[in-house]
Amino acid sequence: MKTPNSRPVVLCLSGHDPSGGAGLQADIEALLAQGCHAAPTVTALTVQDTVDVADFRVLDRAWVLAQARAVMADLPVAAVKLGMLGSTEMVETVLELLQSLPGVPLVCDPVLRAGGGGSLGPDDVGYALRERLFPLSTIATPNLPEARILADLPNGTADECAERLLPHIEHLLITGGHGDEQEVHNRLYSRDGRREDFLCQRLPGSYHGSGCTLASALSGRLALGEGLPSAVRSALDYTWRTLRDAEAPGRGQYIPRRLPLDLD
Ligand code: PLP
Repeated sequence: MKTPNSRPVVLCLSGHDPSGGAGLQADIEALLAQGCHAAPTVTALTVQDTVDVADFRVLDRAWVLAQARAVMADLPVAAVKLGMLGSTEMVETVLELLQSLPGVPLVCDPVLRAGGGGSLGPDDVGYALRERLFPLSTIATPNLPEARILADLPNGTADECAERLLPHIEHLLITGGHGDEQEVHNRLYSRDGRREDFLCQRLPGSYHGSGCTLASALSGRLALGEGLPSAVRSALDYTWRTLRDAEAPGRGQYIPRRLPLDLD
């Protein structure tokens, strides 16, 4: 039953990762932790473990439209989170869906590769994201390697990539986990010239699903009505704690611990 105090609903259009580290499982856990309800719509299936991706399959357009439309006809969508789309056709499908959600905060996690380096879509997906979905997005959350691909600047700094990308999108959070600075520098750029840096302590190890965790937490914060840049700070703080408490259940990367175990 819908009650006036239902938790805000976030429509997630992401891939499924059977290792449970990234993709829709990350979205659901991170959104629960913010006090939101995730409506997980599958865009793609992947075959992967904590080491890397072996294969993926993008779902049929009709199936994705049907899933999302069922949610949109029933639940009050307070924000949308985009993860792995996997093909330029899926970018167009999502664009079509978003026409029915004007004004709803939209967080775009430009997923192009898995943490282990394996591809999660052909190279032209980055271009399609930038040209087609960035203009509708509230904010995108690339890490520096993703920002370089999106900006077409293979050796660009975060500032140079932001300059190239801001004509396409209003806000951009370029995360620094892959950088070589002593602390992690996460840089928030806005088209109106505002700029804010969020520093956090660099943690050892590499993580599977950290980008999904951050983008989902941010979409949840926006769904709750928190404004930027406060929502960015909250999402970064939450994500850092999930990495600090990460576990290594497999042979590969650490998986963020997104939910407390001591729920009583
Ligand atoms: N979405 C899916 C379905 C994935 O499998 C992955 C990585 O494997 C990602 C997104 C991106 O993960 P990360 O948050 O580590 O960038």
